[in-house]
Amino acid sequence: MLCRGLIRRCAHCGHPGAFFVSWFKTQDRCRGCNLLWQRNTQGFVLGALAINFVVTGGALITTLVIGVVVSYPDLAIFELLVSTVGVTLFVGIFGYPISYTTWLAVDLIMRPLEPSELANTRAGKIIP
Ligand SMILES: [Zn+2]
Repeated sequence: MLCRGLIRRCAHCGHPGAFFVSWFKTQDRCRGCNLLWQRNTQGFVLGALAINFVVTGGALITTLVIGVVVSYPDLAIFELLVSTVGVTLFVGIFGYPISYTTWLAVDLIMRPLEPSELANTRAGKIIP
């Protein structure tokens, strides 16, 4: 499930794109299995945002450390600024949907689908 989430697929069925209509726009259900991706929990988005924040912050710090080490002792401030901002924007934007599908995988691992939820998903019914 984690591998599926890490390549922006539905963690449950593996459908490409999962519940993303475009890079940033989501729909309520997976196009492949009709799974309700927020799974009726408050704060689901917070987990996805936390993953994106940690990965983006890690990329920023890594870029900054590499830039300082490479250019030490004459720090190239402008190049450091441009590279860290560029990496942060790229990782943040590129990782946005991946953080959602990854978090769905983590959520499915921690809280497997309940029988009623699974039955509704397969049948394509609306989960109340
Ligand atoms: Zn699916």
